[in-house]
Amino acid sequence: MIVLGIESSCDETAAAVVRDGHEVLASVVASQVDIHHIYGGVVPELASRKHIEAIVPVVNGAIAQSGIPADRIDGVAVTQGPGLVGSLLVGFSFAKGFAYGHGIPWVGVDHLEAHLNSVFLAPDPPPFPFVALLVSGGHTSIYRATGHRKFHLLGQTRDDAAGEAYDKVAKMLGLGYPGGVVIDRLAAEGDPEKIRLPRPFLDKDRYDFSFSGIKTAVMRYIQTHPNTFKSDQAHIAAGFQAAVVDVLAYKIIHAAQENGCRHLAVVGGVAANQGLRTAVSRDAAKAGIDVHIPSLDLCGDNAAMVAAVGYHRLAAGERSTMADDVYSRVKFRPNCR
Ligand code: ATP
Ligand code: MG
Ligand code: FE
Repeated sequence: MIVLGIESSCDETAAAVVRDGHEVLASVVASQVDIHHIYGGVVPELASRKHIEAIVPVVNGAIAQSGIPADRIDGVAVTQGPGLVGSLLVGFSFAKGFAYGHGIPWVGVDHLEAHLNSVFLAPDPPPFPFVALLVSGGHTSIYRATGHRKFHLLGQTRDDAAGEAYDKVAKMLGLGYPGGVVIDRLAAEGDPEKIRLPRPFLDKDRYDFSFSGIKTAVMRYIQTHPNTFKSDQAHIAAGFQAAVVDVLAYKIIHAAQENGCRHLAVVGGVAANQGLRTAVSRDAAKAGIDVHIPSLDLCGDNAAMVAAVGYHRLAAGERSTMADDVYSRVKFRPNCR
């Protein structure tokens, strides 16, 4: 089955053509970073307008790249939520029109479930059961996966998401938006021991997280070292990254052990973090656990992961209807499945 995936939940307009839920034939992502960068964050109204400009060329580009004629597409999968309503509506409305025009089925997909499914697009997908760390701009959670559509929530952040903390720390240091990748690069040049930051919830025997304390500790450091923090920014980045990565790596490996899983996955935008990839791989190897982290292009927002979920939905006979609408807040309740 050939599925066209469409994603427009935030500031990336993306389309992909995926065969049978795992073989990516084409994946196109148009980022709006250059526009929002000026404002230090995503401006919702600008994002919607840019999605409108980008959606047709991005979808046409993905179909052309895939080498599959448009009339051979079997179904459409589109992000329904959570995200910015104005942004979601562009992709969602386009998908409705495309499916109606081609007379093919379509289905709305949850963005978080899509991130979790990105791991099935890699050449060596994890066998069930496995535990998954979803770590992105808006979410940080741990799940136990027992089937393609069966993700059980084990714990989640009580305040900031890890990616959000990265972006806020980058802003405090004057490094612009989005900050994750800049801090990651800077951290490699600093000494992680020089500025020691707290590791919240590390001692708790639960899978919940808290990142606002680490962020506040960075702010306090900057306020108390107004003259030197600029020259120390690589050490701040390294200290911050070490604290975040320590907590994330410890919890996901602990979750794998406690849940009897020999495989773990890390997905979402922050899964692109080099420090996290290295630490999880190193510590998991010591514990005899196999690690599955998607390639960098599948960590950030993309439409291939949307098509991957859509494939299972459409194959199971699920359909969305013209009356369906987008949603802005988390709706994905994996425990209920
Ligand atoms: P969500 O998926 O929770 O709805 P989102 O779609 O905005 O939120 P993603 O696109 O999955 O989030 O990820 C973006 C986040 O990943 C940003 O916070 C960004 O700073 C962070 N990020 C990207 N690359 C890195 C990196 N190398 N290190 C740390 N963080 C990173
Ligand atoms: Mg984004
Ligand atoms: Fe995302």
